[in-house]
Amino acid sequence: MSGKRAVISTLVAAVGCAVTLSVGLVLKRHEAAGGEVQMDRRTDAAAEAVRTETQRYVDTLLTTAAAAGAQDVLTRIEYTALTAPLRSMKLAGATTIALVVPARDGEVAEVQQRWRERGQPDLTLKPYGHGEHAFTVYLTPLDDNAPEPGLDMSQARAPATAMDDARRSGEVAVSDTYHLLVDQSMPVEQRQNSFVLTAPVYQGADRRFLGWVMLGVRGRDFMGATLERAGQRLLDLALRADDADRREVTVAALQAPVEGERDLHRTVVVPVADGNWTLYLAAVSDRLPGAASGLPAAVAGGGLCLTLLLTLLVRVLVAGRERAEGKVRLATAELLASEQTSRRQAELLLAVMEGISDGVGVVGPDGRFLLHNPAARRILGRPERAPGPGGWTDRFGLYRLDGMTEYPVDELPLTRALAGESSDQVEMMVRNADHPEGRVISVSARPIETTAGEHGAVAVFHDITDRKHVENELRGFAGVVAHDLKAPLAAVRGYAELIVEALADPEPAAVEDALRSAGKVMAGADRMQTLITELLDYTAARDAAMRIEDAGLRELVDDVVTARADAPGAAGQRPDVFVGALPPIRGDRVLLRQVLDNLLGNAIKYTPPGQSPRIDVTARLDDAGMVRVQVADRGIGIPDGEHAAVFDSFHRASNGTSMPGTGLGLAICRRIVERHGGHIEALPNPGGGTIFVFTVPAAGAGQALCENVHIF
Ligand code: ADP
Repeated sequence: MSGKRAVISTLVAAVGCAVTLSVGLVLKRHEAAGGEVQMDRRTDAAAEAVRTETQRYVDTLLTTAAAAGAQDVLTRIEYTALTAPLRSMKLAGATTIALVVPARDGEVAEVQQRWRERGQPDLTLKPYGHGEHAFTVYLTPLDDNAPEPGLDMSQARAPATAMDDARRSGEVAVSDTYHLLVDQSMPVEQRQNSFVLTAPVYQGADRRFLGWVMLGVRGRDFMGATLERAGQRLLDLALRADDADRREVTVAALQAPVEGERDLHRTVVVPVADGNWTLYLAAVSDRLPGAASGLPAAVAGGGLCLTLLLTLLVRVLVAGRERAEGKVRLATAELLASEQTSRRQAELLLAVMEGISDGVGVVGPDGRFLLHNPAARRILGRPERAPGPGGWTDRFGLYRLDGMTEYPVDELPLTRALAGESSDQVEMMVRNADHPEGRVISVSARPIETTAGEHGAVAVFHDITDRKHVENELRGFAGVVAHDLKAPLAAVRGYAELIVEALADPEPAAVEDALRSAGKVMAGADRMQTLITELLDYTAARDAAMRIEDAGLRELVDDVVTARADAPGAAGQRPDVFVGALPPIRGDRVLLRQVLDNLLGNAIKYTPPGQSPRIDVTARLDDAGMVRVQVADRGIGIPDGEHAAVFDSFHRASNGTSMPGTGLGLAICRRIVERHGGHIEALPNPGGGTIFVFTVPAAGAGQALCENVHIF
């Protein structure tokens, strides 16, 4: 579970970080692009500032040259007057503005004289080398320096070249950078790369070349303020130009007071007069306004914080969900367990309901059966459709015990239970298509509350047919026993009185009468003993526990025959018994011996006087795995229509009443045979006499047969 939580949290954190960083990166790139644009704008602005500033100098110089050329004779006073405004213009870095005139070697004295006369009386020209010279004749200082005029500018290569260029083009020319003559006496670190701007001066309508006005400018001073304005304390700027040896040197440079790596660089060429200077720019993109908003960092920071919060939230939610799932799982498990318990109980109840021999039925408030077990169906029979209470009597065929009177519906136990009244062991008869012979049942019913909170009823049905049969039998049995014991008892009493009377009169004849009466008393006692013995046998046949085992039928028959061999028939003849091949059987030896003894005994007993009893005992295995035993005699036989009745207790056939007997022997036989799962019947013997046939399980009989054995 915690693994799942960790996976989901990690996933959320990873996705959150990835999205945040991606957005931050996109913003950063966007800003970088913005930085480039900002840098381009500032580069253009800086280049424009430098261009504008240099152009101002150029324009000033052109104006001065034009003004100088406009004079027929340019005196010192006029020159001072026309250059005076330059002082107030505060041209940064400008050192002097000089009028320079050319002179060849032979003209130097004449030129000197000429310009002395024009107001520069102490002018002394100092030619350098030979050939063409260019002398400063007037000088207007624009800073604190005040160099003397008379210098030969041709000695300095850079200004000389610029002057040549200006004279050739007629335009303002800028010199390569060099160190001004005045700077050459300064310490090295204070020297500046300087330059001159020079413009040719033409006079008169014929544009006669007079010379040049030349503006000396110190580079650092010249551009310092401009670069400062253009840089706005954000850009590193360097303005570079070539020196006389074509080496690029820095005219002016400015370092912005900004920390950090310079990641934005630009190089732009700035035209200065007839030359080209190069402006180098560098900046830290993060510090450029509009380029670095801090938004990406804020977004990334905010995003990461949100991701962290989201991750925590997800962890809390997942933990909550896991807890809820745990509770649901627990509840489900409990539900499952209770459902299993309920199912087990239901199965148990079903098993009990299926297994019990008593019928159980539950009806709802409308009298419809909600539940009934197989035993209930077996006991009540199966109506085509389950009826409501009004149809119970009719559908199930319910009668009072007389078997004729229909049971009133409102007296039925279930009807009464639906009305809230309990009833116990109400006996009635069920007779319908499933039970055409009728069954006697006992019904107990109780009102109950069904699941929906409604009133219903439950009834238990018990099939008491057999019990009723036994009860009826016992009732008749008691009557017969009472009757049969009464007669010998009365005889015993009568003869006993005779004995007493005879003993009071000691005459020999009276003693003989007493002896005869004593014999009658003993016969009566024997008869009572026989009756009691057979009663006990009858009870044992019905109730005695059976010991089922494989047994040799042959041995049983031989045992009985041997015991009966000495018993003479009615006429006192010995029985002639034929015993065929007899397969082994399975059952209770003692009880089955009794069956054989009864049958053989009857065969002997019911043989007419003067006739020797002839008995055939045979047996064979039938298709159902039972041994079919046959005992045939040639005796007096059983009258037609009485072959079934002779098996009822105390029934004696009409032709055999002269023989002693109780009418219990065959009833005992039937009971024993049926307890073994077999049946017994009496058939007329075609040659005269009777054939008794009974079946018992063969030795090693299967479980089904043995189960039958136990049922009876
Ligand atoms: P009991 O012999 O004591 O009368 P049983 O139950 O043994 O009682 O027999 C019932 C009646 O069946 C007898 O009274 C007799 O009329 C008739 N019965 C039984 N066995 C035979 C037989 N082998 N031959 C003719 N009648 C018989």
